[in-house]
Amino acid sequence: MNGGSPTVGASRLKIGISACFMHADPARPLFTGKTLQYVEQSIAHWVMSTGALAVMIPSPTGATQRGDVTLDHYAQWLDGLVLHGGADVSPRSYGEEPLQERWAGDRIRDLYEIDLVAAFERHGKPVFGVCRGLQLVNVAYGGTLYQDIRTQRPEALQHRDAAVYDLNFHTVDIVAGSRLAGLYPDLARAKVNSIHHQAIKELAPGFAVEAVSNEDGLIEAIRREDTALPYLAAVQWHPEFHQPGSDSIDDAALLEDFLAAARAARKDKP
Ligand code: MN
Repeated sequence: MNGGSPTVGASRLKIGISACFMHADPARPLFTGKTLQYVEQSIAHWVMSTGALAVMIPSPTGATQRGDVTLDHYAQWLDGLVLHGGADVSPRSYGEEPLQERWAGDRIRDLYEIDLVAAFERHGKPVFGVCRGLQLVNVAYGGTLYQDIRTQRPEALQHRDAAVYDLNFHTVDIVAGSRLAGLYPDLARAKVNSIHHQAIKELAPGFAVEAVSNEDGLIEAIRREDTALPYLAAVQWHPEFHQPGSDSIDDAALLEDFLAAARAARKDKP
């Protein structure tokens, strides 16, 4: 392992990744009628690119629940949390009804991830959100979302294009003086992928904007302002889908910054 290894002594950083849900489906040929919890491969590989160990945190609740394991056990054991992308956040999680039923989102996953963030908070461990993770953090701390950018912000860019998926890009302006700007001192404007049709409407209290889509002003990166509280940051793009060596932003600095906070949180613990 070269420099920048996240090891402390002989032990590697252990980073939890929140689960995506494939809810029980009586028509599915495999695991018929069963709930699947899973991670997408790139996010685990992105975390592991640094030498850290990636662990999916299964939701302990549900119809088949057994035993006494809680999310607090995971938060105590792990060094940090990455909130995975995926399904829409439910408008019901920020006090709205879905404008269309297809935007109803995944309320079960919302509740699980809100509990997960709270558990990592209680244990003083850092949290980093990706795409849906940014939206979830914003909602968990009292913000709201546009349920559908095209409907509610029709002048905005196309932030999701199903035909090209992770090859849909736009540029963002990194906010001067932000921690993100400190990580990219020579990069005022960066190219990022964009695979979302929801976006932050009202920013949660206590959070700062670190990057905006320069063409339409939509928020693309946020961070909690109070640095005395555990590290809590999120981006609207998918770092794990960016190809190393491409002209999109090199997310390694972002990941290393989060992992440094995870390492520091571990040192703080007895
Ligand atoms: Mn975008």
